[in-house]
Amino acid sequence: MSKLPSTPIYSSEVYLMACKQFDRAADAINLPESIRDRTKHPHRAVVVSVPIRRDDGSVSVFEGYRVQHNLSTGPAKGGIRFHPDVTLGEVAALAMWMSWKTALVGLPYGGAKGGVIVDPSKLSSTELEHLSRRYMQEIIPFIGPQVDVPAPDLGTNEQMMGWMVDTYSTHVGHLVPAVITGKPLAVGGSQGRREATGAGVAHLVSRYLADMGVPISSATVAIQGFGNVGGEAALALSRRGARIIAISDYTGGYHNPAGIDVAKALACVASTRSLAAFDGGEAITQDELLTLDCTVLIPAALERVITPELAPRLRCRLLAEAANGPTTYDADRWLETNRPDLEIIPDVLCNAGGVIVSYFEWLQNLENYYWTRDEVLEKLFRQLDQAREAVERQLRRYKFSRRLAAQTLGIQRVADAKTARGLFP
Ligand code: NAD
Repeated sequence: MSKLPSTPIYSSEVYLMACKQFDRAADAINLPESIRDRTKHPHRAVVVSVPIRRDDGSVSVFEGYRVQHNLSTGPAKGGIRFHPDVTLGEVAALAMWMSWKTALVGLPYGGAKGGVIVDPSKLSSTELEHLSRRYMQEIIPFIGPQVDVPAPDLGTNEQMMGWMVDTYSTHVGHLVPAVITGKPLAVGGSQGRREATGAGVAHLVSRYLADMGVPISSATVAIQGFGNVGGEAALALSRRGARIIAISDYTGGYHNPAGIDVAKALACVASTRSLAAFDGGEAITQDELLTLDCTVLIPAALERVITPELAPRLRCRLLAEAANGPTTYDADRWLETNRPDLEIIPDVLCNAGGVIVSYFEWLQNLENYYWTRDEVLEKLFRQLDQAREAVERQLRRYKFSRRLAAQTLGIQRVADAKTARGLFP
């Protein structure tokens, strides 16, 4: 066990969960005490006030964070979240998972995450632009193409990344596309980045279904969250022949055993920003969606939705964690013991497609040489396959769960880099 107590500033259920996962993984690989605390605790955190002028002329102040968990293996990398439930502890946990993820898939990055406590659905487009720009302005001293490279996450999108690139570039005096990934193509975004996370999830789901001997044409899929990741995963899986039988967003769930019309659902979100007006399925609750009888369950919204109470009611055969941290520590231990038949693709592997193509985007920006969509997706799938094979080898060698296999690989690589670099006196 790590000796340093959890810092109170990060204290939250989700940070505690990330710490418990770390402690278990560190024990499993006998990580030396001398390197544990350095590997576990966030390197640094920034808290900023973000004042913006509202459309009615008033001023609102939002609180924002950026946590850089690990800078030992390269520039920190991780998305920016706009959500009302953001806390410093949540951002720190997400930053920690980014460290293991970038290391697991072999990217020359560290791990970071950012967030602002705000409900973006309550802000107009102009107000969202003010918020994106002012947040970026406040974190400029702590980021840069060789320091920390943000990207979109829950509640943020390509357009917001475009505003942030512009704010940073205006500050520096010239266009610096490599400071942010997941930005519009017109300012150096990459082909394939928008669909990368969802396409990666679909690719891995297809691989694991094949291992399980289940033809994808007979697979049924339920997806919680229908934003960038959930929407793109639905599209990619339906194109591969799977039947999407349920989807949901913050407005509720929609069930259609004959198959959801994914294109229609995407068009609904594109024109109204939610699924509230979607009429292609019966209304169901989030709980009903998560416990549906289906082949594949894909949580693609928030963390900690699969709780110890819900875990015994899961009826899927494959759980593909597109969201970060969707399964609580205790629920995961319960599933490991009681559901050996359930295959789990853990978050650090399952949603790694996003950061892999972010890396490709950053490379293209630094070299000013741009790739085709086919090149991007081919390289993405190859890199995901390599990571998956490494996880399966680790799982077989040590008889670990797939989550423990993935996390120990990531943690070991970060710890090795810290050991090789030594401790600055
Ligand atoms: P997004 O904002 O584009 O979409 C989020 C979706 O979740 C929306 O449909 C929203 O309505 C829904 N949602 C929000 N609260 C909900 C609730 N209480 N119940 C049900 N649905 C709810 O965000 P995203 O980029 O798709 O990210 C989704 C998840 O994937 C997050 O956990 C994020 O950290 C993770 N992730 C994203 C990326 C990426 O490239 N965007 C990469 C890796 C992991």
